[in-house]
This record gives sequence, structure tokens and C-alpha cells, in this order.
Amino acid sequence: MQSDNNTIHPFHVDPSGFYGDFGGAFIPEMLFNNVEELRKCYLEIIESPAFQKEYHNLLRDFVGRPTPLYEATNLSKRYGARIFLKREDLNHTGAHKINNTIGQVILAKKLGKHRIIAETGAGQHGVATATVCALMQLECIVYMGSVDIERQAPNVARMRMLGAKVVPATSGSQTLKDATNEAIRDWINNPDDTHYIIGSVVGPHPYPDMVARLQAIISEEIKSQLFAKTGNENPDFVIACVGGGSNAAGAFYHFLDQPNVKLIGAEAAGEGIYSGKTAASLVVGKTGIIHGSMTSLMQTPDGQIIEPHSISAGLDYPGVGPLHAHLYHTKRASYLSISDQEAMDAAFELAGLEGIIPALESAHALAVLKKMKWKKSDIVVINLSGRGDKDLAAYMKNLETK
Ligand SMILES: *Cc1c(COP(=O)(O)O)cnc(C)c1O
Repeated sequence: MQSDNNTIHPFHVDPSGFYGDFGGAFIPEMLFNNVEELRKCYLEIIESPAFQKEYHNLLRDFVGRPTPLYEATNLSKRYGARIFLKREDLNHTGAHKINNTIGQVILAKKLGKHRIIAETGAGQHGVATATVCALMQLECIVYMGSVDIERQAPNVARMRMLGAKVVPATSGSQTLKDATNEAIRDWINNPDDTHYIIGSVVGPHPYPDMVARLQAIISEEIKSQLFAKTGNENPDFVIACVGGGSNAAGAFYHFLDQPNVKLIGAEAAGEGIYSGKTAASLVVGKTGIIHGSMTSLMQTPDGQIIEPHSISAGLDYPGVGPLHAHLYHTKRASYLSISDQEAMDAAFELAGLEGIIPALESAHALAVLKKMKWKKSDIVVINLSGRGDKDLAAYMKNLETK
């Protein structure tokens, strides 16, 4: 099945867990059994009718899917193209993260695991994980950098209210990368009863492929919704922001083998790609290994990880999923760097023109509109990965300067 996939689809993972030169499972021996157990059974479980039924029922009744595909007519007028927004911001808990979390919790139950651990940056993945653990009555421990605990206080409160234990990561820059290290350490110490839910298409194989499949519901819905609205299931462009790359992977997934659909990822340039304060892991990164995966990574010439910076905590990661490293190097997708200020401006533009306040992460995708030349006939789908409630503090600061 998988090797079949691979011969037909050059952009899907191969049987050894690689996308071209990227991916794999570079893990300590102590994690081998856990990762191997997952690798052996994730496809069989995910493709089973019982899993599919539970996953789709919960996506419909608990998450609120399908999310709308909304034709943004004011935005379309401004940019001279037909622009559609895939409204992942309308999911329960406010972002696409829960598509993955629901799937992985069902999978964990089928593996007989009753303790769930996760890492989180902005807290969106932590909230999504805590939410589904409450629903399924599973123990939940979320690792979070102590800097992020401070700057994302409302999400920390949400996780606690939902019954999760939030554990601060106090090493390094005390952000997402360090929280991930702590979660991996926990998993090594609790191999039998614990499932580690990674929140993006990163980490060792099979995580990137597993998470991409669980987010692929986004492009599956786009196809049928776009067909209903335009008579064609393929747009000319799909645009999504890229942190680890899971919402982009989900939005691209069913278009990867359609060369006429141009795929554009928006990375966080931070204060500028040459400023030293950036998170543009593809544009300024070099090939290296982070969290078990060979990918594009921001690093010094001697291989030390460079601390990332982005105004949006969800994009503040020094690496990127191996699928995107592969799409970048094969030029199947192109990646633009969007600065903090460009994202901020795009968020205010969407609020003013369409009455939608996006997450700062998603605003990076919206900012691509200004960077391209559009034709009237272009059909453009932008994945609006999340809503802006969690970013109000940053938006209030920007209002003060207006
Ligand atoms: C976490 C998050 C992201 C970044 O993660 P990806 O894996 O790159 O999708 C983007 N948007 C929102 C709203 C998020 O919460």
C-alpha cells in the first residue's frame, strides 16, 4: 500500500519514512520500541472502518466539521482574484490542531495507552489535546516552555480547567523546542502506558505522515466545496502558513499530485530573514536533524540550533516538517517569508474587510496576497488556520501605535 503510494506519488513518504532526502527516524534507542510500534500499526488503524467512523463522527459533532469554504468578496475585489478562505478558525478550540488530536487520541486508545503527553508553543495544541483527553477521560500532561507559559496565560488556564497538568520547560530558550525535548524525555521514561501526541508534521517517522493524513480532511473538504461553488475541484493556488507545517500539509495534501495547483507556504520571517530574529527555517536553514527528523533547520556553521523568533508563538520553531523541506527542494511548492509587521497588517486588513479576526499565524498566509501578481480568473484558497482570540494582546499593542 505504502510503496504503491510512493510510486504514484513522489511527494508522499516512502516505506522507510523519507520524503526524498528528508525525514526518517533518528531516535535514541530508548524510544525505538514506542516509535516502531506506531510505525507498524498507524496505517492499519487509521484506515480501519472503526477508526474512520469514530474520527468522522467526532469531527462532525464535536469539532463542527466540515468547516465552511467562504468566498471573501471584499478581499477578492481588493486583490483582483477570486479568494476563498478555508475556515479552520471555526473549529472547536479555534484552530486546525484538533483534527490531529482527535485522531491520535483514538489511535492511542486502540493501542491501549491511557496516559497522553504533548508539547505546546502558543498553547493551541495543548488546549486541543487537553480538550480531547477530557472528552475521552484520559490523563493529560502538557510540556510548555516557561516563556510561553507567561506569554500565553489564557491558554494555560484553559488547559488546567480541562484537567491537564501543564509542566514548564525551563531549559534553553524556554519555548517550543525545549518543551518538545521535555516531552521526548517523558516518553523515554514512560514507554508502556504513554502516547506522545506531536502537534505538527514534525518528529520521527511515522509522525509527519500520520499527522498529514489526519489533517488531510482540510483539502478533502476544499475539493468538494470548491467544486460546488466553481464547478472545478482544483484551485489555481493554495496558500497556508508554515510553522511545523501541519495546516499546510492538510491543505496541500490532495493537491500534491495536481501540478496545475500551485502550492505556497508562508514562513515567519520575524524581524527579517537576515535580522538574526527569524523563524524562516526553509529559506535560511540548512539540512540537519531535529527531534528525530532530517530536515531544514536554522543552525550555526557548527550545527548548534539558532533560537527562532516570530511574533506568532505557533510559528516560533527552528525546523520544519520534512514534507515541506522536500516540497521546497523539489520546487513543488514555493515558500515566502512574511515579517511580523506584514502579518500584523494582514490581520487588520482581514478584520476590516471581512469581519474575521485571524490568528497571527494565519495572517502570515493572508500577507502572501500582497506579494503576488493576481489575474481576475485566479482561484485562490487561503487556509485560515485559526482565530485571533489568543492574539488579542498583540493586536491591542498594535492598536495603541495607530
Ligand atoms: C499551531 C498553529 C500553526 C502552526 O502549526 P502548523 O503545524 O505549521 O500548522 C498555525 N496556525 C495556528 C492557528 C496554529 O495554532
